[in-house]
Amino acid sequence: MISVNDLLFAYSHSDFQLQISNLNIAAEGATAVVGPSGSGKTTLLHLLSGILTSDKGRIEVNGAVVSELSEAARRSFRLQNIGMVFQDFELIEYLSVLDNVLLPCRIGRLPLDAVAGDRAKYLLDVAGMTQHTRKSVTRLSQGERQRVAICRGLLTKPRLLLADEPTGNLDPATSERILDLLLDTVRQEKSTLIMVTHDHSLLHRFDRTLDFNEFLTSTEVTGAASADGADS
Ligand code: ADP
Ligand code: MG
Repeated sequence: MISVNDLLFAYSHSDFQLQISNLNIAAEGATAVVGPSGSGKTTLLHLLSGILTSDKGRIEVNGAVVSELSEAARRSFRLQNIGMVFQDFELIEYLSVLDNVLLPCRIGRLPLDAVAGDRAKYLLDVAGMTQHTRKSVTRLSQGERQRVAICRGLLTKPRLLLADEPTGNLDPATSERILDLLLDTVRQEKSTLIMVTHDHSLLHRFDRTLDFNEFLTSTEVTGAASADGADS
């Protein structure tokens, strides 16, 4: 279960405020997050992962009260439990495609061994990136870079994958293939996917949808995603 209570977050030097009274998202399965640009979807993912910290409120992710952890403990929790696909990819420009996918090993999440290498190659293959494995990421298109970020997010089979518009730069056929990969992984591993998307044609494939419009019109969003079972 992921729960957010009495959250108030503001960036310095910005008028934007994210305010959430009560939000629960079931841990199992796939949740799509939709809503207007600038409504705070990316901010919410960064708060759940502990990359950002809130001014006020409680955030609990799979049993850990992220909002009460120290910076070091949040980092450790993130490394152990969370895979991130950032909206702007956050690739390491001087590394190859394969080494970008293997990055979670390098920062200590699992051994950099043949098992990790095989998984990285498997993910790149499913993502249609095999021919680019040894390339520098600087030579990739935006859609190819996006697929590297997705493979990296999935490398460790994280308990929680937070994916920020991961199909935003992909053609419809590749989007479907990437979504298959994300959903298959979540179902096999019985893990959690929270994915921001603007593509409403993909929503029927998710277990539930969290609509950010509701946060804009109401300060009391009790179990916003629960009408169709998010609280189960
Ligand atoms: P979304 O992902 O829904 O498009 P974001 O969470 O990225 O929205 O941004 C929400 C609001 O916060 C926007 O108004 C954006 O301009 C602002 N914002 C995002 N990041 C920063 C930042 N680092 N500093 C200041 N303002 C920011
Ligand atoms: Mg965003």
